[in-house]
Amino acid sequence: MKVCKFGGTSMASAEQIKKVCDIITSDPERRLVVVSAPGNEFEDDIKVTDMLINLAETFLRTRNCEKELNAVVSRYRRIAEGLSLGNEIVKDIENNLKTRIMLGYDHEAKFIDRMKAAGEDNCARLVAKYLKSLGYNAQYINPKDAGLFLSDEYGNARILPQSFKNLSKLRDLDGILIFPGFFGYSLSGEVVTFSRGGSDITGSILAAAVEADVYENFTDVNSVFAANPKLIHNPKAIPVLTYREMRELAYAGFSVLHEETLAPVFKKGIPVNIRNTNNPGSAGTMIVTTREITNGPLSGIAGSGGFITINIHKYMMNREIGFGRKVLSILEEETVPFEHMPSGIDDISVILRQKYVDSDKISRIMERIAHNLAVDSITIGYDLALVMVVGEGMLRNIGVAGRATTALAKSGVNIRMINQGSSEVSIMFGIDEKDLDTAIIALYNEFFK
Ligand code: ASP
Repeated sequence: MKVCKFGGTSMASAEQIKKVCDIITSDPERRLVVVSAPGNEFEDDIKVTDMLINLAETFLRTRNCEKELNAVVSRYRRIAEGLSLGNEIVKDIENNLKTRIMLGYDHEAKFIDRMKAAGEDNCARLVAKYLKSLGYNAQYINPKDAGLFLSDEYGNARILPQSFKNLSKLRDLDGILIFPGFFGYSLSGEVVTFSRGGSDITGSILAAAVEADVYENFTDVNSVFAANPKLIHNPKAIPVLTYREMRELAYAGFSVLHEETLAPVFKKGIPVNIRNTNNPGSAGTMIVTTREITNGPLSGIAGSGGFITINIHKYMMNREIGFGRKVLSILEEETVPFEHMPSGIDDISVILRQKYVDSDKISRIMERIAHNLAVDSITIGYDLALVMVVGEGMLRNIGVAGRATTALAKSGVNIRMINQGSSEVSIMFGIDEKDLDTAIIALYNEFFK
C-alpha cells in the first residue's frame, strides 16, 4: 500500500485535481490519499487556508464574514464546476462553513483552528466525490472517525500515540480513501490543526500507521535541490537523501517538506518519495535510512533567519555544577524551546527562534538568568541567521569546515558562531541575517560548482 499526499498547488484548480486523480488511479497501490486545501493557482492568488484565517479573524472582530465566506465558496465553486460536479457539493461546503461558525467562538484559537481545517476537510470531500463521479470506489475519511487524536495545542498540535493503532485499521477498508490533511481532534472532540504546512505530517502519520511501502509526497517540484532554486540558478537535484539529511535541511529552511514530517516514518523506516504532480514521470527524491555516498561530502545547503542569541558570561562557569540546567529550566518555565547551546569555558550562548519570544518574555528571561545565576554579563544578539551545510559524506572527511569557512571569508561573511554535532552530518554557521543569501551562494559555489 502506498500513502500519497498532494499539496496545495496540486489542489489549486480543477485541472490540477484531474492530474492528481490520474496519478492516484494509475496505480492500484495508491489507496490512502492525503489532500491539502487548494493553494495558489496563480502567483497573486490567496491560499484557501489564508482565506479561512482571514474569514475567522474578520468574524471575531466584526461578527460578520459574509464577504469572506462567499469568497471561499466561490473558490470551491470554480473547482467543482471545472470537475462537472454540480451545485450540491458547493451548497454542502457553504453549509459546512456556516455550521463551523455556529459551533461557537468564545475560545478564539479553537474557533480559528476549526475554520482553518475547513480547507482540507472540504477539499477531501470534493476529491472523493469527483473520483466517485468517474466510477471509482472512493470515500472521504473523517479524521475523528479514523481516530487521529492530537494534543490540544491549537495551531501547533502534536500526535497522541494511541492514534497510530486507531489509524492502522484504515488498511482494512476497501477502495481509495481520501483523508484531509493538517488537522485531527483533541480528546475532548475539538478540531486541532498542526502548524502551517502540516498536511505533510498527516501523510507521514498515516504511512507509519498502515506501514505503507512508501510515502509519496506530491508537490510542484521535480526533486529536492542542493540549494534554494530562488537563489541558485538551476541547482543540482538530489536523487537520494537520508532522513537525517532531510531533517537537517528542512530544519534550516528547505520548505519542500514540513520540518516535523519525518518523525513518524523514520521510526518505521518507511521511504519517502518527493514527487511532482505536474511531472509524474520524474523519479523525484527518495528519502531513506541509509544511502551510498557517491556525491561528495555535501548533499545540500540551507539557511534561514529569525534567530536570536542570549550570550551569558560568568567567570569559572565550567566549575559550577548545574549551570546549564538552571539556564534551561528558566526557558522551560517560560515555555520557550531552545534551538542550540554553543559554549566556551566561561560562556554559554542560547539560540532561540525569535517567533517564540516577545520583548516582555525575553526581558523576563534575561533578568531571571542574570539574577538567579549571578552571571557577570548577559547580552542579546538579534538578526541571527543559521546556515547549515549538510551531508552524510562529511563523516570522517577532512577539510569540509575549512573549505566552508574559507568560502564564507572570501565573500566577506562574518561567522558569529559555529556548531557541529557529533553525528557529523551537518555544520551550522551563525551569521548576520543580511549575509544569508551571500553565504548560501558562496557555499554552493564552493561545494557544487
Ligand atoms: N493548508 C495548510 C497550510 O496552508 C496545510 C498544508 O497545506 O499543508 O498551511
